[in-house]
Amino acid sequence: LAGYEVREYLLEKWGRECTYCGKQSVPLQIEHIQPKSKGGSDRVSNLCLACEKCNQRKGNKPIEEFLKKKPSLLQKIKTKAKQPLPDAAAVNATRNKLVKVLRGIKPVVTGTGSQTKYNRTKLRFPKQHWIDAACVGDIETLILRTTQPLLVICKGQGGRQKAALNKYGYPIRHNPLKPIKGWVTGDIAKHQKLGIGKVTPRSKGSFGFTPLGTKGYKSCKPQDISAIHRKDGYIYSFC
Ligand SMILES: [Zn+2]
Repeated sequence: LAGYEVREYLLEKWGRECTYCGKQSVPLQIEHIQPKSKGGSDRVSNLCLACEKCNQRKGNKPIEEFLKKKPSLLQKIKTKAKQPLPDAAAVNATRNKLVKVLRGIKPVVTGTGSQTKYNRTKLRFPKQHWIDAACVGDIETLILRTTQPLLVICKGQGGRQKAALNKYGYPIRHNPLKPIKGWVTGDIAKHQKLGIGKVTPRSKGSFGFTPLGTKGYKSCKPQDISAIHRKDGYIYSFC
């Protein structure tokens, strides 16, 4: 960890607040828990974040002296200082191996989360996951051609069970293996009166139809609907 990365790590570790007084949304300075003048090291385990006031008040006092009236806080800080970020630790342990394996398959470049944030901040983009995805790595400029990303969620294709079973293992309903009149459950269609919705085809009688954005289950005739999107195992929406 170096420079910007240390800051990001500490912000994450100490919850973006002053370690001593808990103040948030103020400029935070990197703080040596045990002061360097008293033999404290520069290791991340000896660093935390403090607001300017606390930083000045602490000066180069050892933490035990600075917090002698707040023993529980002292204990909390001392314990936390030694703990690494658990998920960061997990990523650290596996990422090098992952990159090594991937490099054997294709050329791989690596970037860091703080580099992504740096790029996004420099290019003055708002904080959005999809924008971050475009800010990964070594980039100079970025032109976004949309402000409305498409959110795609994998939903699977459904089971291959021939029949639905009850708790005793007896079939209660036979699942159709083929589309019914050209329709499968999950197809999206437009109905003349009900608008756009999800189709539940039935082999007997009328079809089920659930208008989008509702839970209302209505019946419809297959000849009244026209296909908009055939089920492909994904749900598409705008964020
Ligand atoms: Zn403070």
